[in-house]
Amino acid sequence: MGKLIDLHVHTTASDGDYSPEEIVKKAKEAGLSAIAISDHDSVGSIEKAIHAGNKIGVEVVPAVELTTYWSKKDNKEFHILGYYFDYKNEELLSVLEKCQRSREDRAKKIVEKLNELGFVITYEEVDELAKGSIGMPHVADVAIKKIENKKKFIDIFGKIPDVKEFIHEFMIIGKPAYTKKYAIEPFDAIDLIHKMGGGVAVLAHPCWDVPFGDESIIKQFADWGIDGIEAIQGRETKEESEKYIKYFSEMARKYNLIITGGSDFHSDKDGKPGGDRGLGLLKWNMKIPYEILKNLQNKKIIK
Ligand SMILES: [Zn+2]
Ligand SMILES: [Zn+2]
Repeated sequence: MGKLIDLHVHTTASDGDYSPEEIVKKAKEAGLSAIAISDHDSVGSIEKAIHAGNKIGVEVVPAVELTTYWSKKDNKEFHILGYYFDYKNEELLSVLEKCQRSREDRAKKIVEKLNELGFVITYEEVDELAKGSIGMPHVADVAIKKIENKKKFIDIFGKIPDVKEFIHEFMIIGKPAYTKKYAIEPFDAIDLIHKMGGGVAVLAHPCWDVPFGDESIIKQFADWGIDGIEAIQGRETKEESEKYIKYFSEMARKYNLIITGGSDFHSDKDGKPGGDRGLGLLKWNMKIPYEILKNLQNKKIIK
């Protein structure tokens, strides 16, 4: 069997459950040769993960997942992955810091809105749960576990919802606790990654964010200079995923982009992103071959 990888993994530096050391160990146990540490708007785990990876023989790729809003498309959210950029660059760190602070502000506002809706939850509890940067899953997690909210949940959902269900019902765009946070435009994110030591910019999980068959979005990202798309990703089922992988691989070929792949792993728990699919998408018997990383590295060299 060839070497396998995962180019989209979260840690406690954002909303993942595992520390950089733990995640590298898990990758080793899963039999992966390389993983990219790609936290939301944070590079806080990269160095620790590289160090841990060197010790036990897992190649760690420095990465980040930038949150962007496309203003001309009703502020639709797109995530841009950056690979092999200068993660110590001062300008980059200041942009990330601004994003981080806005995460906290947003979490505070979401908590306020949930309070107004009658949920019992405080920002302090959310802050305590989030070891790294605060995300919507932390807010949801706290609200779900509070016994005081049980009756309300039964009224609304007929049961206690999981994190995904709660976010979907209350926090996404158009829902009562939705709160926009400071973020950059997709083009600026791509530009930033390129400028920071010639990093490689990749459109994250298009299978979730680009409507099937809507080529115009891929074309726009290609025009903005994106280097690749994360064609290999998980949807609800393996069969669904394969349909999307095929489509976005074709799109990548058409627009001369590289293909990357990742699980978006956050946790082993179901209901959290990536939990059911596992590191490397291995729980679904899907494989992300090492050649994908080779292509990414070649792209970096050409730049
Ligand atoms: Zn994402
Ligand atoms: Zn992610």
